[in-house]
Amino acid sequence: MKDRPYNLYAGPAILPLEVMEQAREELLDYAGTGLSILESSHRSPGYAEINDSAREDLRELLGVPESHSILFLQGGASLQFGMIPMNFLRGGKADYVNTGAWAKKAIKEAKIFGEVNIAASSEDRNFCYIPALEDLKLSPDADYVHICSNETIGGIRWARFPETGEVPLVADMSSEICSRVIDVSKFDLIYAGAQKNLGPAGVTVVIISDPMLKRCPDGLTTMLDYRTHAEKDSNYNTPPVFSIYIVGLVLKWLKRRGGVAAIEEVNNRKAALLYDLFDSSDFYRGTADPGDRSTMNVTFRLPSEELEAAFIAEAKKAGFIGLKGHRSVGGCRASIYNAFPEEGVKALVGFMKNFEKES
Ligand SMILES: *Cc1c(COP(=O)(O)O)cnc(C)c1O
Repeated sequence: MKDRPYNLYAGPAILPLEVMEQAREELLDYAGTGLSILESSHRSPGYAEINDSAREDLRELLGVPESHSILFLQGGASLQFGMIPMNFLRGGKADYVNTGAWAKKAIKEAKIFGEVNIAASSEDRNFCYIPALEDLKLSPDADYVHICSNETIGGIRWARFPETGEVPLVADMSSEICSRVIDVSKFDLIYAGAQKNLGPAGVTVVIISDPMLKRCPDGLTTMLDYRTHAEKDSNYNTPPVFSIYIVGLVLKWLKRRGGVAAIEEVNNRKAALLYDLFDSSDFYRGTADPGDRSTMNVTFRLPSEELEAAFIAEAKKAGFIGLKGHRSVGGCRASIYNAFPEEGVKALVGFMKNFEKES
């Protein structure tokens, strides 16, 4: 096979090569059935095993307590922006922390269903930081508190999470799920589109607590009621079978790598290679405040937009693709998800040092 470029796209994003090779191997004949998983019934025993083991591997990897259900839904993280307030903000009030583009989209949807209290915002400095926990203006009577734990576009993440007491904590973890150890029991709902760190597009993981499931109201359309999917093991209607199959392979890969704690160490080393470069250079400037830096989406600027354009073009020639920042903010971004290899980050840093010298 021709050398593959280093894939730094924010999402859909890099998948472990091993996983894609296994999927190719099994594509025409899944587990000796003579059928492809692509053409198999979602009621077949083969699929039941895929669904169950993906769910149980995720439970093991993230330490999801038995009090929480794991669901595989469709509609992306974007559907969760609306489905969460549709189920849990019924004319009351919810607290949202405005940390960037994704938090904002969630806020927009919540406002359709009730009052939104912006508990804090980092918009004053262009979303380059996470508001301090002690500055959050949380409402004691909120229906829930919503955060985006890692802002994919701004490149910032919550190093620690707020204590919300009796008020349920809800988090969009799309771009960092399984990248670091978290205490799932602190959250009543976690959601993540798979296409950043877990697999291909088409499936969204939702981890939801029993008390939260009990709060789902009657009268919603069946598909938008979390209980439907919890009761039917994410098999109420036809699930995205192939996407869930690939997520399952990615989770097995992650287990072979030693699990979340082990990959977190690798992720910290990878991110430090880039952030150390920024801290020792006048040429590359990290845009996130040091305490809030994401280990998944590393955002940075060069001295001018011309240099940024040249950098992105030269990097592409050298085999590093996807370094352009999101169109809404410009600049550069290296998305170095779990599947992005450490030697790839080392090679990127080498390229960046050379580019600086030659500019
Ligand atoms: C990509 C992303 C989304 C949107 O996901 P879709 O699956 O495209 O709806 C939401 N939140 C975060 C943090 C993301 O990175």
